[in-house]
This record gives sequence, C-alpha cells and structure tokens, in this order.
Amino acid sequence: MEQKNIQDGLMDKITALAKRRGFIYPGSDIYGGLANTWDFGPLGTELKNNIKQSWWKTFVHGRDDMYGLDAAIIMNRRVWQASGHEKGFNDPLVECKKCHQRFRADEIEAKECPACGGALMPPRQFNAMFRTYVGPVEDESGLTYLRPETAQGIFANFKNVVDTIAPKLPFGIAQIGKAFRNEITPGNFIFRTREFEQMEIEYFINPDDDWKKHFERWLKETNNWLDSIGIDKKHVHDRDIPKDELAHYSQRTVDVEFDFPFGRKELWGLAYRTDFDLKAHQKESGVNLEYFDSETKKRFIPHVIEPSLGVERTALAVLASAYREDKDRVYLDFSPPIAPYKAAVFPLLANKPGLVKEARALYEDLKKAGVGLVAWDDRGNIGKRYYAQDEIGTPFCFTVDFQTLEDGTVTVRDRNTTKQERIAMRDVPAYVDGKI
Ligand code: ATP
Repeated sequence: MEQKNIQDGLMDKITALAKRRGFIYPGSDIYGGLANTWDFGPLGTELKNNIKQSWWKTFVHGRDDMYGLDAAIIMNRRVWQASGHEKGFNDPLVECKKCHQRFRADEIEAKECPACGGALMPPRQFNAMFRTYVGPVEDESGLTYLRPETAQGIFANFKNVVDTIAPKLPFGIAQIGKAFRNEITPGNFIFRTREFEQMEIEYFINPDDDWKKHFERWLKETNNWLDSIGIDKKHVHDRDIPKDELAHYSQRTVDVEFDFPFGRKELWGLAYRTDFDLKAHQKESGVNLEYFDSETKKRFIPHVIEPSLGVERTALAVLASAYREDKDRVYLDFSPPIAPYKAAVFPLLANKPGLVKEARALYEDLKKAGVGLVAWDDRGNIGKRYYAQDEIGTPFCFTVDFQTLEDGTVTVRDRNTTKQERIAMRDVPAYVDGKI
C-alpha cells in the first residue's frame, strides 16, 4: 500500500507561488488553458536548466566513461516495433458505460465510475504513444510516433557511438530530451504530464561483469546527486519491484519514490535491462550490434543498466523540498547551484545617483564574473525586495548603502537566516562564486 504523506495545502501553495513568481504557468493560458499542460516561465526555465546542467556535469563531464547524445524525437517506426512499444506500451483502461470517462485499471479500486457512479466496462488496452505522420500524406506509410522515452534513441545509436568513439566497456551514453505519453490520468501539477523531459543513461557492461555492483553504484550515485541538488533525503525511498511485477525486459528494477505532498510516488527508476534492447534492435534492423572486446577478442551484446529520471518530477521534488514558511515570510531554500538567481543587487535608495552608480557597477561585475543570473531591483522599499527574492529562492542579496560610499563595503543578506554582514564590495564576486 502506498504510504500517504499529505502535507496540507503544500501543493496549492507551490502551484500558486510557481505561477505568481514566473516559474510555471498553465499551458495555453490566454486560450483558457489546455488541461494538464504547463509552460515554464523565466524562473522555471532557469531552475530546469540548472537541474539538467547539474546532472550533465555530474554524470557526463565528471566521469571518464560517459558520452552524450541528442537523438531525434521522431524516429523510424521500426524502432518502436523492435522495442516492443508499438505492441506493448499499453495501459489497461476501464471505461464508464454512462459518462464514457476512461480510467487506468490499475489505479481504480472501486467497481463504479469515480466521476458519475456509473458501471465500468471490462479493461481494454490503450496504446500510450502519440501517433504522427511524416510527410504530406496521412497514411500507414508515413506513420510513426513521438518517442515515449529517450532510451531507444540511445540503443539505436549504440553502434554509431562505438564505431566513432571506440569507448571501452563499461561505458554509458546519456541523453536529456522530451518524451511524450498519452497518459490517461495526468495530474498533480507537473508530476504526470503528456509531454515531459527525461534524463536517461544507458550504462553498457560486459555480461560477465557483476551487474549487481554497477546497479548498486548507480542507485547510490543518483540518490547522492538528488541530495546535492536539495531533494530532502528523508523523503526519498528505494522500492524494489517484486519479481512478478517486473517489466518483461527487466531483471531488477528499483523505483525510487519521493514523499510528494500528494503521497509517495515514483521520482525516478533504475532498471537492469539485460541485453533485451540491443538484441531486439539487432534482430529488427539486421545490423550486427555486437561489441568487440579487443583484449579478450570476444564479441558479445553488452548488458545495460538504466537510471531514468524525469526533469519535471525532479523539479517538483526540489520545489517541495525547498518550500519554507517562517512567520510571515515564505522562502525557497534552493541550493545555490540550482537557484534561478544566484544573487541580487540593490541600491538602498533608487533616487540617490551615488548609490545607484555603485550598485550598478557591482551588478555588472557579478555578471562579468560569470556566476550566473543576477537580479537587479531598485523598486519599493528594501523589505519588499528581500521578500520577493526570498520567494524565488535567491541565496544572497547585496545592498549598496551610504556606508559603501565611505568604506567600499556592502551588506550581504543570507536568505535562510536573514542575517546581514558587511563585506568588501570587491570581494563579492569571489564570495558568490565560492558558494555555487
Ligand atoms: P509511472 O509509473 O509514474 O507512470 P513509469 O514507471 O512509467 O512512471 P518510466 O517509464 O520508468 O516511468 O520513466 C522514467 C521516468 O520518467 C519516471 O521515473 C519519471 O520521472 C519520468 N516520467 C515518466 N512518465 C512521466 C510523465 N507522464 N510525466 C512526467 N514524468 C514522467
């Protein structure tokens, strides 16, 4: 049974803050929206980019056994025939006889329709891939699908990467990109949508190698990364999928769950997919996808371990972990590398040219130092500016005041403690750089 961890009203608070402060807007807003679609605004785009960059830096740049890929979203239909998605990417659905709403059979316990109480028909299969047609004629010959996962782009390019880069096993290929699933029950804000982004790695190993060792390492390292971007460890739980519930290609799967405000749900998944995919593509394409080990002179199909994360789910877990209320103040406790704005600069008073000039110089210096996005604000009073920066999770605010003109120091205010101290203005870029 799923453990509930309902944090009262937290989802509503996060959703409202996300819209109010430019993180996430309802999709197609000016046309009355489109159910369960969301657009990332200026702040949300930064947050998402920071998450993706951190993942890429950790798992591609930070290692010497990883290679990047950016495959096309629309692939040859045969990819989806080989992978089993065309036949098997189905969710059993039940339909209400009265109001004709459809529900996922595995998510519905009652015998009646949750919407109108009508009787439910027996479950039917429903393919979750979005169909599309390539070329001007909408017929079978041009039929293909928007990819439901980024993984298959990696398998389809396995040979290209091996032939051009000559990597030694074990090695991995990483990809970040959009995926599309015609989900029956999207919802819970950005938790389940029909269009989302994945960060996936296929880590190829020698079948004689100890897969359990690699599996454990990926589990640990990915969870460590979640911790490093501020996802609350206390709320992250590994759930081993029982043997009889495993996908047909998997020998072992761990769903890593997070206590979202609406309950404990899958945040990301780790699967030992064996040689299922490469074998299937070799069979369908007729192209030899064996790896030649130059040391042992053996040819074989590598096995694969796959950590697969959703960007939006990660962002939601980051937001839920970061949300804080402190008396009448709301702030987002983002870790500095993930925060949309790294710092903010204010002149104490907007109508004192001496202060504005110094503050502007500091703002330009910070930008030039390449610390990331820096906010400028000279509107209203200083308290309001702090309040606004707290709500978007800016870790440091620097204020140029009259003392700055005398001794070259500015105040730096810490978001979490609200404590202020003075530091030399020339030290500010190094100060921020040191924290990110
Ligand atoms: P679920 O059981 O929640 O439908 P899944 O097991 O089908 O997820 P996978 O196919 O393992 O998901 O996809 C890997 C990751 O991609 C998930 O752990 C999740 O982070 C993300 N993901 C999958 N489907 C969606 C979706 N509809 N919206 C947002 N993220 C998704």
